[in-house]
Amino acid sequence: CGVFGVFAPGLEAAKLAYFGLYALQHRGQESAGITTYTPEGKTHTYKNMGLVSQVFSEPILNDLPGHIAVGHTRYSTTGSSRVANAQPVVVETPKGSIALAHNGNLVNTVEFRKTLLAKNCPLETTTDSEVIAYAIGEAVKAGKDWYSSVIEACQQCEGAFSLVIGTPTGILGVRDPQGIRPLVLGTIDTDNPDKPHYVLASETCALDIIGATHVREIEPGEIVHITADGITSDTWAPKPERKLCIFEMIYFARPDSHMKGESLYSYRLRLGHHLGKESPIDADMVIAVPDSGVPAAIGYSQTSGIPYAEGLIKNRYVGRTFIQPTQAMREIGIRMKLNPLRDVLEGKRIIIVDDSIVRGTTSYKIVRALREAGATEVHMRVSSPPVTHPCFYGIDTDDQDQLIAATTSTSDIAQKIGVDSLHYLSWEGMLAATGRNPENYCSACFTGDYPISIPEPLKRTKLM
Ligand code: 5GP
Ligand code: SF4
Ligand code: MG
Repeated sequence: CGVFGVFAPGLEAAKLAYFGLYALQHRGQESAGITTYTPEGKTHTYKNMGLVSQVFSEPILNDLPGHIAVGHTRYSTTGSSRVANAQPVVVETPKGSIALAHNGNLVNTVEFRKTLLAKNCPLETTTDSEVIAYAIGEAVKAGKDWYSSVIEACQQCEGAFSLVIGTPTGILGVRDPQGIRPLVLGTIDTDNPDKPHYVLASETCALDIIGATHVREIEPGEIVHITADGITSDTWAPKPERKLCIFEMIYFARPDSHMKGESLYSYRLRLGHHLGKESPIDADMVIAVPDSGVPAAIGYSQTSGIPYAEGLIKNRYVGRTFIQPTQAMREIGIRMKLNPLRDVLEGKRIIIVDDSIVRGTTSYKIVRALREAGATEVHMRVSSPPVTHPCFYGIDTDDQDQLIAATTSTSDIAQKIGVDSLHYLSWEGMLAATGRNPENYCSACFTGDYPISIPEPLKRTKLM
């Protein structure tokens, strides 16, 4: 999911949120929503199924007045794909409404939900995000201020959560103790240099689009509170540690977003350099599976000296195929999405680079299409190690038995997807490109080493 928040007295916060969400569309395409607060503390919310551009129009945005806004783009990891599960989640409290936008996935939702239901909390959906919002509401009811209420709710959460929370007086931003999902802080200049407007967003690309300046990332286990008095920050978690999802860097986040001090384009280029060093092969051209494989393919080409070309044209108006929740929709999605260029491919030995193989279904179809378009050899190179374990922290990598590398050796995968050779970037190669301590990342989908322990009943739902 994508989350966004803005505190901007005097500006139309809904429009800033709209543009921010537009830039975060890749993080979720099922539904989108915005809640705004007027200076009197009155809230307005609009959310619906679909892309940001389909959900919102000028008249709808004009009906969202106020200087504070919280926004969300969703793809479902817990809870089904329907409008009741769209966010922000708005919960009434004696001090006014809170509006919560959540990215990540809790692993203790079932237990957490039970404790709230025991307090007669009127939970409406099955999402973990609603549970967090109501837990904050309970603390407010018990007389706590916004800040302490949010901390109290966070202390009951286990799992991944980057949160943006709106209140009648400000916005709060939180990251879980491991910082699994990203969250960044930005500012928009005002006439008073001591009083900028503040922005919170999943990725820096959402700051760029509204002309905000990237200040820093919110730290794992940190809470920030932004009000008319400015910004305050604290560490709410007892033992924060760095466990950013490495898949955000490899694939999920936009290449023009910055993490760890550089654009993810540069990072992915480097993955491609290492891939090229590890797995040279004689061929006529390097192509990418667009768009996510492009930076690594260019990197591979730079290292190998084999020219990079476009061999597959993507229909830009089709969303990420894996986001469609059912297998049947996924299959249609792939055919709608990519078309091979016969005049580029015919008679050529091709190296095709992708960022990851998850189920293997995309790769199989692409390889078949390349051969039909006349490629004489197809060599696949993947800029991450084999995905063998499912994610419990908010990226939909499916159940373990659906992950092709969990059950199949690399040589058998090569045969199944129909390539002449297949090479995954090694674990060492990935670490070398990352250039930092592997301890600072979650990489459980490659190792099964989950940094936040998964309760047994939940494990059984996804692991073989
Ligand atoms: P598959 O091997 O499942 O057919 O598709 C691999 C493609 O899905 C790659 O192009 C990759 O960009 C994309 N993908 C990458 N990460 C994920 C993920 O976390 N979940 C899913 N379902 N797909 C992903
Ligand atoms: Fe990211 Fe994989 Fe960890 Fe999930 S399990 S948070 S996708 S690295
Ligand atoms: Mg891809």
